[in-house]
Amino acid sequence: MSVADDGEAQAAILRAVELFKAPATFVLGVADVSGLPFGDRVEIAFAGRSNVGKSSLLNALLNRRSLARVSNTPGRTRELNYFAVGDSLYVVDMPGYGYAKAPKSLVEGWTQLIHDYLRGRSQLKRVMLLIDSRHGIKPSDREIMTLLDKAAVSYQGVLTKADKPKSGDLSKVLAETEAELKKHPAAYPVVLATSAAEGLGIDALREAIAELC
Ligand code: GDP
Repeated sequence: MSVADDGEAQAAILRAVELFKAPATFVLGVADVSGLPFGDRVEIAFAGRSNVGKSSLLNALLNRRSLARVSNTPGRTRELNYFAVGDSLYVVDMPGYGYAKAPKSLVEGWTQLIHDYLRGRSQLKRVMLLIDSRHGIKPSDREIMTLLDKAAVSYQGVLTKADKPKSGDLSKVLAETEAELKKHPAAYPVVLATSAAEGLGIDALREAIAELC
């Protein structure tokens, strides 16, 4: 690494530390796009299948023990939940998808919300697409990827629960996920591996977000 690269890497770390130093606060839950907040904050949304580890990762990212539990309280699981980070960023917790037992009418309702949000939100700079490192990309993830490609919304793969697979298996799923995402026009080529349980990859995730602000 050259001295210039080193300086750039240090600056990226400092930007991330600065951005996430203040506690994040829950702002509102949005059930219909007509209720989306005004303003020009950058938005980074988190999407993934139910149980992928989204709440745990958001808690680790936002440095709060139970912040994202708000999103899992009854009534809020089908909303876009907005968290304010500093004065320039909203982290948006999207409803979990792929929950086989959910009634069809509910699935249709939140599918519509996700579609409307992804298609029409210029503040949305990237969707972090969470993928369980034990399972890799699933068909319901591919549906969202197709939607994001069509809407031309940038998205980045983030493996969760990276403490679970053996290291060889983790490298394999990381390589497979990157290879699949590289074929998608709107996907960012770098996949991050994280573990909320062990605090792995959280700094890299913060840096990726800070870069977009
Ligand atoms: P959500 O439904 O996507 O919000 O998922 P949760 O954050 O509620 O997590 C689902 C399950 O996965 C819970 O039992 C968590 O304890 C577990 N989990 C979440 N993150 C991790 C992780 O980094 N490592 C491990 N081993 N388990 C995790």
